[in-house]
Amino acid sequence: MRYYLSLGSNLGQRARHLAQARSLLQKAGVIIVRQSSIYETEPVDYLDQPWFYNQVLEVEAARSPMALLHLVKEIELRMKRRPSVDKGPRVIDIDILLAGKNVVQTNRLVVPHPRMSFRNFVMVPLAEIAPDFIHPLFHLPVSVLARMTGDSSAVRKVGEVHHQVQAV
Ligand code: AMP
Repeated sequence: MRYYLSLGSNLGQRARHLAQARSLLQKAGVIIVRQSSIYETEPVDYLDQPWFYNQVLEVEAARSPMALLHLVKEIELRMKRRPSVDKGPRVIDIDILLAGKNVVQTNRLVVPHPRMSFRNFVMVPLAEIAPDFIHPLFHLPVSVLARMTGDSSAVRKVGEVHHQVQAV
């Protein structure tokens, strides 16, 4: 199944943490099809913390959404993400944004990610690699939703990347 994942880090060597998360995903058999540029982003919920590095990945994974959630939680633990302030500083945060056109609503997993459309740090990188993807609940393309976040927090590109990563 085709997924979009959001990666974030705001502690230590942020770019390296994103790279390590990508590498651990690949080692677990997840194919990174496209990747956005890396963006430096202003914290939104809990403001008194360092700026984040964020990136969105389009991946192909032969796993159910729940099995993918288990994998990303395992990677977060492996990267020693310590339980800290909710929405506070973290070595790595991995969120499942979209699982194709599927809608998942359980206690442990909600997809499309309920807050994605209100966050510049998600929608700007997502619009870079998937502007035409139709949000399965709002029925609008990502490029349109990215202009309607209502979020005024700053998002700036850190570096250009090659979008195409692995052929499937
Ligand atoms: P986090 O804020 O990343 O620590 O996530 C806290 C919890 O949110 C996780 O343990 C998941 O069970 C839950 N969760 C619900 N929906 C999602 C989603 N789409 N992606 C990642 N985590 C999710």
